[in-house]
Amino acid sequence: MATGGGWAPARSVERHGAPPPRGGGGGGTRSKSVAPGPRRPSPSPARSRPAPDNGGSSDSCRVRVSVRLRPKNSEDLAHGSDFDSCVELQPESKRLKLKKNNWSCESYKFDEVFSENASQKRVYEVVAKPVVESVLEGYNGTVMAYGQTGTGKTYTVGQLGKDDPSERGIMVRALEHILSSMSFETDRVAISYLQIHLQRSSRIKEENSSLSNDTHNIFPDDLPLVLKSKLLIVDLAGSERIDKSGSEGHMIEEAKFINLSLTSLGKCINALAENSPHIPTRDSKLTRILRDSFGGTARTSLVVTIGPSSRHYSETSSTIMFGQRAMKVVNTIKLKEEADYEILYKKMEREVDQLTSEMERQQKLIKSEKMQLDKKFKESERSFHDLRMTSNMRIENLEKEKCQLESTVKTLMRDLEEEKGQKNLLSEQIAELEKLLNKNKQQQLENLSRTKILTDTTKEHEKEMEELLRQLQEERHCSSSLKDRMSVLQQELCDAQSSAQLQESMARELEKKLTKVTEELTSQVQSLKEKISELISEKEVIYEELKSTQEKVQQEMWQRQGLEDQILRLERSTSDNYAEESKTSYGMVRSGSGLGNAAFVSKSGKIREALSGQRGTISKIFEEVGLPNVLALLKSEDLDVQIHAVKVVANLAAEDINQERIVEEGGLDALLSVLETSENTTIHRVTAGAVANLAMNGSNQGVIMNKGGARLLANVSSKTEDPQTLRMVAGAIANLCGNEKLHLMLKQDGGIKALLGMVRSGHADVIAQIARGIANFAKCESRVISQGHRKGRSLLIEDGVLTWMVANSTRFSASTRRHIELAFCHLAQNEDNTCDIIASGGIKELLRISRESPRDDTRNLAKKALDSNPAFLREIQ
Ligand code: ADP
Ligand code: MG
Repeated sequence: MATGGGWAPARSVERHGAPPPRGGGGGGTRSKSVAPGPRRPSPSPARSRPAPDNGGSSDSCRVRVSVRLRPKNSEDLAHGSDFDSCVELQPESKRLKLKKNNWSCESYKFDEVFSENASQKRVYEVVAKPVVESVLEGYNGTVMAYGQTGTGKTYTVGQLGKDDPSERGIMVRALEHILSSMSFETDRVAISYLQIHLQRSSRIKEENSSLSNDTHNIFPDDLPLVLKSKLLIVDLAGSERIDKSGSEGHMIEEAKFINLSLTSLGKCINALAENSPHIPTRDSKLTRILRDSFGGTARTSLVVTIGPSSRHYSETSSTIMFGQRAMKVVNTIKLKEEADYEILYKKMEREVDQLTSEMERQQKLIKSEKMQLDKKFKESERSFHDLRMTSNMRIENLEKEKCQLESTVKTLMRDLEEEKGQKNLLSEQIAELEKLLNKNKQQQLENLSRTKILTDTTKEHEKEMEELLRQLQEERHCSSSLKDRMSVLQQELCDAQSSAQLQESMARELEKKLTKVTEELTSQVQSLKEKISELISEKEVIYEELKSTQEKVQQEMWQRQGLEDQILRLERSTSDNYAEESKTSYGMVRSGSGLGNAAFVSKSGKIREALSGQRGTISKIFEEVGLPNVLALLKSEDLDVQIHAVKVVANLAAEDINQERIVEEGGLDALLSVLETSENTTIHRVTAGAVANLAMNGSNQGVIMNKGGARLLANVSSKTEDPQTLRMVAGAIANLCGNEKLHLMLKQDGGIKALLGMVRSGHADVIAQIARGIANFAKCESRVISQGHRKGRSLLIEDGVLTWMVANSTRFSASTRRHIELAFCHLAQNEDNTCDIIASGGIKELLRISRESPRDDTRNLAKKALDSNPAFLREIQ
C-alpha cells in the first residue's frame, strides 16, 4: 500500500534494504551455508554442500525480485478519462514510481525493472538464466510470476512463441538451456506441468573436500553419487480480488481456493520477511510446493507483473508490496548429493555376471583339460598293456627256446655219457687186449698185424670222441648266449613295468590337481552366491524400508488433508459469522469515478504499517481506535488537534473500503461542517482532500450532493487562492462529475461554475483536475444522451465551459490537452450542441483534433462527429 493521502505532498520512500540477519546463526548442520542456518535439516542419506559464495556478498541468496510493466492494451486505451498511467519506470536506478493520484506518488526499488519495451530474451537472461545455471550445478531453483490477471504472467513464463521465436517465454527458453547443457549419457531430466524434477551424475573425489569425516564414512570414495536438483517455473493465478476476477458459481469457489493459496503465500512471505519464528507453509498446497523456494534451499527469482492503468491502482500497489516483501526473503542454497544405489546395484550385478561367466569359462577349461588327461591316461594304459603283452609273449618264447635248448643239452650230455661209457668199455677192452698181447708176446709175431689193426681202430675211436667233445662245447656256448638274451629281455620287461608305474603316478597327480582346482572354484562360486544373496536381502530390506516409509508418508498426507479440510471448514464458518456481524470491506463497491483509487497510509509508522497490510488490518484499526472518537476530535477547540483529526479522517477516506463507513458514521457531516465553519487554510485544504477521497465512492457521491457538498466546495473555491486547496476542491468536483445522475444538481449548486472559475489560479495541477472533471462530465453526459435518457444541449455550455475549451485547448500540458480534446469530442456527438459549437468557432478545433490529436480514439471521435453531422459538413465546405 502506498503512503500519502489526498492531502499529502508527494514524496519518495526507500523500500529496499539489505536483508536482516536471521536468528541464531543456525548452527548444528554439517554443511556450511552462505546465509545463516537452514530451517530444516537435510534428510539422510543425501548430503548437502553449500553454494559457492558469490563474491562474499551477504545477500547473495536473497530472493531476487524484478518488476515488469505490460504495454497498454486496447482496454486501457478505451477507458477514456482513465488513460493516465499510474506507473512510471526509472530503469537506470531500478526504481518504480507508483502514482496514487495526481498529487501523490511512491518510489520503490527492485532488483530489476522491465519497461513495456523489454524483450522476452532480456527478461529470461536477467530473471531465469542465473537460476537455470544454478540448477545445472545441482541447486534447486524457482522462477515465479506474480501479478493481477492480464498483466503478463503467462506471457512472461509460458509464452510458446510458435510463430515468432523471439516471443518465447521463460519456460521454453529454460528447457532449451537445460537440454543444450546436459549430457544424455550421464544426466537425466524429467518434466511435469509444474516442475522441471534435473539429475546429474558425478563421482566426487575431492582432495580438499569441504565434507566432514563422518560424511566420508557414510559414502566410500568410489560410491557413485548423483546431484539432484529441480527447477520450478510457476505461473500463478491472478492476485486480484474475487470481485475483479469475474468468477461466478463453481468458478467462484475455485477462485476462493486460489485466493486462499495466494493469501497463504503472502502470509509466508510476510513471516519470512519479518524473521517470524513460525512460517505457516502448511496452510496451502501452493505454499507447501514453494516451501523450498522461499526461505528454503532454492535459488529463487520472482517477476512481478503489473499493468499501467490507474483503474487497477490497488492491485498494482499490492503486487508491488508483495514484491518488496519477497525481496527480504533470504534462502540458503545448497547442493544435494545422493548415493546412487541403483547404479551401485547395477555395477555389482554386472560384476557378479562377469565373475559367473569367468567361473563357467574356467570350469569348461578344466573339464577339457581333464578330458585330455583322461584320454592320455587311457592311451598310456593301452600302450602299457600292449607292451606287457608283447613282453609276456617274448618271455614265453624265450622260455620255450630255453626249454628246447635245455632238452637238447640233456640229450647231448646223455649221448656224451653214452660215448664215455663206450670209451671206458673200449679202454677196458684195450687193457684186456694188451694183457692178451703180453700173454701172447710169443705170439707177437703172429699177432703183430692184429695189434696194428687194433691201434688204428682205437685212433679212429679217439677221433670220433674228440669230434663229440667239440660238439658238446658248441652246444654249451649256444646255451650261454641264449641265457644272456633272456636276461636282456627280462631287463626290458622290468623297464617297461617301471615306466607304466611312472605314468600311473603322473595320472594320479593330475587327478589330485584337478580335484583341488574344482574345489577352489566351487568355493569361489559359493562365496559369490552368498554375496549375491546378501545383496539381494539387503535390497529387500531397503525395499521394505522404502515401502513402510511410503505408507507412513501416505498416512501423514491423509491426516494432513483431513486437518486442512477441517481448518478450511472452520475458516469458512468464521468468515461467514464475521460477515454477518459487521459490515466488512468485502461487500463494498469500488468507485467508478476517474480520480483513481487513492490509498492511504499515515505519516505515523504504526498506522502506515497497519494500513499497508491487508484490508482486515485496516478494519482492525477502526475497531481499536474507534471511528466515532476520531470524528469527535474534528470538533475540537484545539486547532492542532482538529487539523490532525482531519488528516487522519482524510487518510482513512483514501482507502476505498473505509469510504462508505465514514459516511455512515457521520464523518461526512462532520467534514462538511468543518469546511463551512473553519477559516483555517490547512483545514480547508485537508478537508477538501478528504471529501475528494469520499467522492471517489459512487454511493457516497449522491450523499455529498444531497448534503450541499457541491455548494460548500464552490464557496471554498471562491474564498481561497491557495493552489493546493484549489487542487483538492477541483479534484472533489471532478469526481462528482463522473456521476451522470448528479449532473443537473451539480450545475444548479454552482459546481460547474466553480470548477471553471478555478482556472484563474493558472496552476497546472489545478487545471489538470478541472480538465479531468470536464472530461468526466462530458463523457457521462454523452453516454446518457446517446442512450436516449436525456435530451437538450449540454449543461456545460451555459456556464461557459465550451467557449473556454475552444479558446484554451492547445495551451496546457499534454495530458490536460487530451482531457479537453476528449471532452470537446463528446460534446460534438450531441446534435443539440451543434449551434453552440459552430458559434464558438469549434469546427476548426474539431477539424484540428480529427487530424492532430495524438490519440487514435480521440481522432476517431472527432471524425465521427464531423462525418455524422450535416451541419458540420456544410460549415467545412
Ligand atoms: P496473465 O497471465 O497475467 O493473466 P497474460 O500473460 O495472459 O496475463 O497477458 C494478457 C495479455 O497481454 C495477453 O494477450 C498477452 O499477450 C499480453 N501481454 C502481456 N504482457 C505483454 C508484453 N510484455 N508484451 C506484449 N504483450 C503482452
Ligand atoms: Mg495467465
